[in-house]
Amino acid sequence: MHEMIIIGAGPAGISMAAEARGVGIPADKILILEKGDAHSWAIRKFYPASKPVLANYKGINAVCTGVMCLTDMTKEETLTYIDRVIEQCELQVHYKEAVTAIRPLAEGGFVVETSGGVYQTGRCIIAIGILDKPNKPEYRIPPTLTKRIHYDITTVALKDEDCLVVGGGDTAAEYCQFLVQQGNHVTLSYRRKEFARLNPVNLESLLALEAREQVTILRGSNITKMEDDGGRPRAVFQETEHPARTFDRIIYALGGTTPVNFLKVIGIEFDGEVPVLTQGYETSLPGLYLIGDLSAGKKGGSINLAFNMAAEAMRYICTCPLPAR
Ligand SMILES: Cc1cc2nc3c(=O)[nH]c(=O)nc-3n(C[C@H](O)[C@H](O)[C@H](O)COP(=O)(O)OP(=O)(O)OC[C@H]3O[C@@H](n4cnc5c(N)ncnc54)[C@H](O)[C@@H]3O)c2cc1C
Repeated sequence: MHEMIIIGAGPAGISMAAEARGVGIPADKILILEKGDAHSWAIRKFYPASKPVLANYKGINAVCTGVMCLTDMTKEETLTYIDRVIEQCELQVHYKEAVTAIRPLAEGGFVVETSGGVYQTGRCIIAIGILDKPNKPEYRIPPTLTKRIHYDITTVALKDEDCLVVGGGDTAAEYCQFLVQQGNHVTLSYRRKEFARLNPVNLESLLALEAREQVTILRGSNITKMEDDGGRPRAVFQETEHPARTFDRIIYALGGTTPVNFLKVIGIEFDGEVPVLTQGYETSLPGLYLIGDLSAGKKGGSINLAFNMAAEAMRYICTCPLPAR
């Protein structure tokens, strides 16, 4: 029986365990279950190599309130920082164990089922993020194009290719910068006329690339169809000012979605599409918490926000005895 099972070994999950160690919960009473073969799967998959990881991301003020804190660093330094926390706090992480079900017990606590086993815990913290299934476009993509369509930047190394990045947030801007550095021809399709969501660093870098004609930005462009043009993707736009064009690669940067069904099946109460959370990110099921990107809302999350949520959850847990069993 574990005191605490944490699902997801990303920034939220690891900092939750570090907070628990900080208040004296023994390492062997905390178990982290991670579906990937290493911690921080989303960072490894979606961040370009050497990406500057910004402490103040999406305008979220980088004031740290818990034991973990991100300063501006690279992707690799961020992963090393998390490696060190796992080592120093002697965290027990079971990798390659995707959680498939969580069952609340009538007497209190939870049973957690994974691809590799069944566990029981007093408290359960879900920190699985929203990037497990990246958002996809509404139009159909011909299956013949699958190898030329991407939802991340790390699976295939691209060089000397004509790439279309689709999106208008920080991820899209960072993908453009990375693809240019790798020697690709880059076009960005954004459905709005103005960039409203970019952090100032990314906005400045993107506009500088445009000024140097290293990125072409199709502002106010909406793709309505993706066609197979002799094995290459041809994007058809709604607006006549943007004629249809064939590219070597399409890279979507459309964010992710809360895994609503997974959470609803557990029995968590929702208000529309948003889980109802009380103090310390506790759900309607006492002892079950949602932290990190999962609870960050529409604006999206950041690493320091995930760290701070873990700290807040732990502060609340310290004041609140386990539900009776
Ligand atoms: C391209 C990009 C750039 C970004 N740049 C920055 C930046 O510069 N600065 C910043 O502060 N933030 C940045 N962010 C945001 C930041 O990465 C997230 O806010 C942060 O990773 C959220 O942490 P999390 O632990 O909630 O979720 P995640 O990092 O998504 O971690 C969730 C973990 O849960 C695991 N998991 C999922 N489902 C299961 C399951 N069923 N069972 C077990 N494990 C599971 C996943 O494998 C993953 O390891 C960026 C995001 C992207 C996509």
